[in-house]
Amino acid sequence: MGNSLGAVANRAPWRPDSWQEKVAAQQAIYPDAGELDKALTELSGLPPLVTSWEILALREQIAEAQRGERFFLQGGDCAESFAECNSAVITNRLKVLLQMSLILVHGLQMPVVRVGRFAGQYAKPRSSNDETRDGVTLPSYRGDIINSPEFTPEARIPDPRRLIQAHASSAMTMNFVRALVDGGFADLHHPEYWNLGWVEHSPLAEDFQQLATSIGRSVRFMETISGRRAGSVKRVDFYTSHEALHLHYEQALTREVPRQEGWWNLSTHFPWIGMRTASMEDAHLEFMRGIRNPIGMKVGPSVEPGLLTDMLEVLNPNREEGKIVLIHRMGAGKVADKLPKLIRAVQDSGSPVLWICDPMHGNTESTADGIKTRRFRNIMAEVDEAFDVHHDNGSRLGGVHLELTGEDVTECTGGARDLVDADLRRAYKSTVDPRLNYEQALELAMLIVRKHET
Ligand code: PEP
Ligand code: MN
Repeated sequence: MGNSLGAVANRAPWRPDSWQEKVAAQQAIYPDAGELDKALTELSGLPPLVTSWEILALREQIAEAQRGERFFLQGGDCAESFAECNSAVITNRLKVLLQMSLILVHGLQMPVVRVGRFAGQYAKPRSSNDETRDGVTLPSYRGDIINSPEFTPEARIPDPRRLIQAHASSAMTMNFVRALVDGGFADLHHPEYWNLGWVEHSPLAEDFQQLATSIGRSVRFMETISGRRAGSVKRVDFYTSHEALHLHYEQALTREVPRQEGWWNLSTHFPWIGMRTASMEDAHLEFMRGIRNPIGMKVGPSVEPGLLTDMLEVLNPNREEGKIVLIHRMGAGKVADKLPKLIRAVQDSGSPVLWICDPMHGNTESTADGIKTRRFRNIMAEVDEAFDVHHDNGSRLGGVHLELTGEDVTECTGGARDLVDADLRRAYKSTVDPRLNYEQALELAMLIVRKHET
């Protein structure tokens, strides 16, 4: 086991900028520090994107999920882009998340915590600092908050004005999401609003058809007895999240709030620490330990139990409920080997966490022609293994973290329509990781329900 007490006691008092005394992995280097300062000063004066009471409400929902009373659904793009901050993309993404959550509510018979990977998911860690195409090497694309995906030297220079644009695009996304959710997604209960044509292509067609019919029936039943339309969830019922990678951006939106104690990261409800920045020495852990938000942390296959419990001690020394969500991403076939010792170490530590599974990032591969993809069957296999391994170790898998879009893209292969490698070129839009499309996302939700029933 690690030396957790020493690790915490050795830290100087936290401040919103105390992370700057440590080394932060995966940061952009701006050519002009003065321009960066100017943008950060401007950002610090802009209104926040979320409120502390919404954050507290999410913490309460996470605490319920930790007690086994809720399922946690987190999903959205690998990276949002400024160009796709538009009505269709936002609406379709919200629709698929809402429909998945209805499938889960109905099938698991419990409420769902709905968290979007959006309104701020603009910074990307990269496995390499540069990218080579046809013998030309340029700095990597690091997300729209930093540079631009075009393969030219100018596009790849970090531009601090993008921080302001990221805040603006997040605010526009947030504003539209709030309006849609408040407006009730009026047509949610109409069968024609659900595109379920794919169901007949599934080997589980009959099962899925029954599930779809029965969801339709219960939605109408709920509406009849409550006199409300089922889509009219309250606006705080949808939360936002992103990887808190760009620490200057996160700091500029971290504020004190009247009549509340402590510091709140008001750029999002639920920031998470990515796998590449989850270490004791990294500045990200230092920054995240001081904010009142609930925090996610990715847990990859190389994390040792002692490191995990040390990091938990730093992030949640008082063992508060509703504070920590651990997002494991091991890869299909590796869960049974990697996860049990981590589950046991966390159990022994007595620190309350919610475990959820990201079945995307351990299952990325390249096709013969070099296209990044993920296979639906590997994604489902990892979720399947995760449910079993938690169950066998006296724990519970309480949710999933997915990369998905409401658009009809062809980025992941498999699923009911059995997309093959040759289909990927047809509608591949992601500039970073491949996402589940609308149909694959609904299918995954139905398979989770089916798993739960067996
Ligand atoms: C991501 O969520 O897009 C990501 C980069 O994940 P990870 O940190 O788990 O690799
Ligand atoms: Mn990703």
